[in-house]
Amino acid sequence: PSPSSLPGDPAAGAAIKATDRAHVFHPWAAQGRIDPLAVAGAEGSYFWDHDGNRYLDFSSGLVFTNIGYQHPKVVAAIQEQAGRLATFAPGFAVEARAEAARLIAERTPGDLDKIFFTNGGAEAVENAVRLARLHTGRTKVLSAYRSYHGATTTAIHLTGDPRRWPSDQGAAGVVHFWAPYLYRSPFHATSEEQECERALAHLEDTIVFEGPGTIAAIVLETVPGTAGIMVPPPGYLPGVRALCDRYGIVLVLDEVMAGFGRTGRWFAAEHFDVVPDLLTFAKGVNSGYVPLGGVAISAEIAAGFEDRPYPGGLTYSGHPLACAAAVATITAMAEEGVVEHAARIGADVIGPGLRELAARHPSVGEVRGLGMFWALELVRDRDTREPLVPYNAAGEAAAPMAAFAAACRKAGLWPFVNMNRTHVVPPCTITEEEAKEGLAALDAALSVADTYTTGG
Ligand code: PMP
Repeated sequence: PSPSSLPGDPAAGAAIKATDRAHVFHPWAAQGRIDPLAVAGAEGSYFWDHDGNRYLDFSSGLVFTNIGYQHPKVVAAIQEQAGRLATFAPGFAVEARAEAARLIAERTPGDLDKIFFTNGGAEAVENAVRLARLHTGRTKVLSAYRSYHGATTTAIHLTGDPRRWPSDQGAAGVVHFWAPYLYRSPFHATSEEQECERALAHLEDTIVFEGPGTIAAIVLETVPGTAGIMVPPPGYLPGVRALCDRYGIVLVLDEVMAGFGRTGRWFAAEHFDVVPDLLTFAKGVNSGYVPLGGVAISAEIAAGFEDRPYPGGLTYSGHPLACAAAVATITAMAEEGVVEHAARIGADVIGPGLRELAARHPSVGEVRGLGMFWALELVRDRDTREPLVPYNAAGEAAAPMAAFAAACRKAGLWPFVNMNRTHVVPPCTITEEEAKEGLAALDAALSVADTYTTGG
């Protein structure tokens, strides 16, 4: 069915909304202040509501529909698996599970060849930390301030963004550090080389003062996503890898958002030639059609559990429906060249298009990213780089970004807005024409943001 053949039904939409408002407790929201849109359907890069509005999805949901909505091969694989064996407990060898693990292990870098399955990203991070603690016999974990790792206990403590604050009851053993971010350099650096060098010196100081023998793991997003898509300088992750090797620390790269094509490679670590000891994934592994995440484990760490049991597991670990969706997603992405396509559209259409917008719109302070993973940082003043809204702004203080987001939606574009940024994270399957349509919508919305900016 195409969007026009399924236009939605306003009365049905109103009924769905009323039931939702009565009974669904939404994440990250003041329950009385939200008015969720009633979704009628989705296909490819678009979704539409019951009121006749269609949106080009520049957010990929929560950055997970890498293969787009309703990919026929993935839908068919889920249906086929449901008809054959809808569920089965972990601890058994199930075809879809084994195949999914094989296809993932074939694509993860280095010797990350054993896959522990979870239901999503946060559980992957929890288990990566647990594996690192058991492997090293140490407890502390280092993570970046500008990060997001999930909403369960350990994952939210590792997370640097303000959603951690209310949950942060003296998180035992988590220490935050500053990772590279040249545009707002925590190190007052003025070049990428300086930022890299100073960030690595700061990390080593943190390790030395925390006590290297107490640190189990460093957990880092290969390219930080929710916190602003800060592509690290080329030398940074190799430098972190060297520090981990020097001090016997497990390197966990969190690729829940950056993995499976998002950056124009299967995994972002490939851009930097770095192999972590543990790699977490979720989202793009099956484009979120059925909840799935996991940890890819190095041969050395996996070997430590040959004779002693790993004391962790989940009822739905490696769920057949989720794994069948992963097999179909990865196979379709490979057959259709989706990863290469994402790299090309990012380099040839979206990147240049965003830079062209930045040249015309004074509200754009910086454009950064790669593949299908871009951010525009909006500012009040390009010279001072004062953000368009303050860090963690709410209510009236956040109004300029709310006005920008509303202008995007009015232009038929669903944006991913966080703090003073809009992230441009469409499905990896987006066509050149759709990308251009999205850039035109951003052009219109940035004119609204410009009205809050000096010289706008
Ligand atoms: N790690 C990263 C890098 C993420 O982006 C996210 C989700 N945005 C998570 C972990 C948590 O994943 P989930 O919401 O599936 O638990």
